[in-house]
Amino acid sequence: MISLRDLTASQRTLLGVGAASVVAALLVLLSASDLDLTAFRTLRAVHVNGAGNVVETRYNPIAIVGLALIGVAILGALGLVFASFLRLLPKFAGGILGAPSDALAQAGQKLDQELGKVLGHIRAHITTNESYAKSLASAQSRLSGLSEGEQVRVIVSLLVAENERMRQDSGLLQSRLEDSQKQIQSLRSSLSQAEAVVLKDPLTGAGNRRQFDVTMEKAVLECERNGTTLSLIMCDIDHFKRVNDAFGHQVGDELIRMFARVIEGSVRDADTVIRYGGEEFAIVLPQTEQEAARSIAERIRRQFESKRLTIRETSQKIGQLTASFGVAEYRPGDDVETLVQRADAKLYDAKSSGRNRVASFGHGDD
Ligand code: GH3
Ligand code: MG
Ligand code: MG
Repeated sequence: MISLRDLTASQRTLLGVGAASVVAALLVLLSASDLDLTAFRTLRAVHVNGAGNVVETRYNPIAIVGLALIGVAILGALGLVFASFLRLLPKFAGGILGAPSDALAQAGQKLDQELGKVLGHIRAHITTNESYAKSLASAQSRLSGLSEGEQVRVIVSLLVAENERMRQDSGLLQSRLEDSQKQIQSLRSSLSQAEAVVLKDPLTGAGNRRQFDVTMEKAVLECERNGTTLSLIMCDIDHFKRVNDAFGHQVGDELIRMFARVIEGSVRDADTVIRYGGEEFAIVLPQTEQEAARSIAERIRRQFESKRLTIRETSQKIGQLTASFGVAEYRPGDDVETLVQRADAKLYDAKSSGRNRVASFGHGDD
């Protein structure tokens, strides 16, 4: 059900003002009728002369306005149902567009279908609403020619019947909207899972190049806006081709996974590890100065070189593996490309000056 907490502040204010106006208008009408409730029950009074001819017909404005107010209150209640539906709409607009996977496309189609269903329910409800308004309007014409007592009986039974119809219809709409909301929530969670898959490297579980682009754009923007720091480490396993040639591609894959685990174990949750290419990784470290990033790279380098690796099935020793690291820090005016270029240049320096080392600006030849 809809509660006041579900409404926005402006919707609550509007509701309060509407309810207060209806109550105030009813009070004014009551006092205008000298607290005589029979004044509400007669819509039209017909005066007949002795010969049975109608000499005067008077419409009762108090009864007409009272009837209109009841109609407004019912429409206001329906407004609440629509307000609840409108709250759902922003949830359809999750950032899921453009992800090029079948799972995403299918989930997107299902969302469209669900949205179509919701709109269908709303349209059906609006049609019922219109028939309610028409029914009330036609009652006015049917009343002429009836005695006062009959008029009251017809109006009361009409209002009761129409209210019941609207209540049932609103309940049905509410439960359909709730069903749709559940469907949409489950689709949204499938979409977030699919979205996570699209941003991940399947071999290592680290982020992929798409994730790198998204993360770097955000990180650089944060530096520009808030003047914070950002460091980037690019690293690459040394002489990996030889390892592949000597032990085969499958062993190579396992070693790439192991390198990823060593990196993941050395960084904070706020940092992002990306498999940038074959055996090359990037580590994005927001709010980290170059010196801190350098020590993290140094820690990863030492851990990786300290592994003594053996192929389990054959007990064959792989021997020591090493990796090289390039570190760069964000400078005002940088974009993603210039920062990557500087970290890459430092990785190249680390490789060309002997491998198994960390190179950064201010350390060695800049
Ligand atoms: P350097 O020290 O200069 O980095 O030498 P390297 O041999 O590591 O560098 P190079 O770029 O010449 O070779 C990288 C090799 O990594 C080539 C390719 O066989 C291997 N490789 C790339 N992607 C994968 C992968 O997904 N799995 C495996 N097993 N090997 C890969
Ligand atoms: Mg390499
Ligand atoms: Mg490489």
